[in-house]
Amino acid sequence: MSRVIDLGGIKVHALNDGVVHLPPMYYPGLDFDAHPGLLAADGTYHIPVGCFLIRGEGFTVLVDAGLGPSRIPFPAEIAAAAGLTDPPETIAQGGLLPGALAEAGVAPEDVTTVFLTHLHADHIGWIAPDGALYFPNAVVMCGDADWRTTPTAPAPGEMEGRAGLKVAEDAGVLRTVTAPAVELAPGVTARHSPGHTPGHYVVSASSGGEGVYLLGDAVHHPLQLNDQGISFLSEEEPEHALRAREELFAALEGREVSIGMTHFPGLEFQRITTTENGRRWTTTW
Ligand SMILES: [Zn+2]
Repeated sequence: MSRVIDLGGIKVHALNDGVVHLPPMYYPGLDFDAHPGLLAADGTYHIPVGCFLIRGEGFTVLVDAGLGPSRIPFPAEIAAAAGLTDPPETIAQGGLLPGALAEAGVAPEDVTTVFLTHLHADHIGWIAPDGALYFPNAVVMCGDADWRTTPTAPAPGEMEGRAGLKVAEDAGVLRTVTAPAVELAPGVTARHSPGHTPGHYVVSASSGGEGVYLLGDAVHHPLQLNDQGISFLSEEEPEHALRAREELFAALEGREVSIGMTHFPGLEFQRITTTENGRRWTTTW
């Protein structure tokens, strides 16, 4: 089931490509003992692999391209490091995006732009999963800083996803972005927000004064809203990531907007409200 925010001239759909099973060590600073409900019985935290579709007059923009049709077995060394005696079979599994797109009434041929917030494996999987462009009529866009950097310790699935981007480059449809902000379509803008990766971008869409903000992985866990000590293991520049996160919270707090994060449970759109006990997330859909 997809979630939809209707801004009038623009609709934004949250779509899920799959699931990631993360041991607690992926969230340094998060006290899982104080929040026992976060962990599943297998000892991991389950998060969706979100993608967002922005549809307006004459354009269909897909923000992030999921993990792809991949099933990544749970690495034994990670299970050992996390002390998991009975880990889940996979650390990540994708494959749901085509069905979610169809449910939203969109065929791969309809997508005009694929914008990648960054190039981690769970965001690039459907570019060319078996060597052919999955979105044959789309330009593929991403931050130049991420594309120019070859991962020194690639996560499972990352190099396969990057091979898909090479297919896009060879086909002449890859556009890398260096500008602080770039318009993807009328009312749809990507803004550089480095930290999670050097080339990480966030995307906003507005129509009729209302707005949707898609923060990618700049915010990885809901509890980061009031706890600056919680980070994420694969953040490449943790200090920049924290600064980017706080700037986004400050900019969005109290505003009548809907905010989407790639990995928030349920992929619900949120608003940031202020209470005497700090900020809180309020679901808008
Ligand atoms: Zn991610």
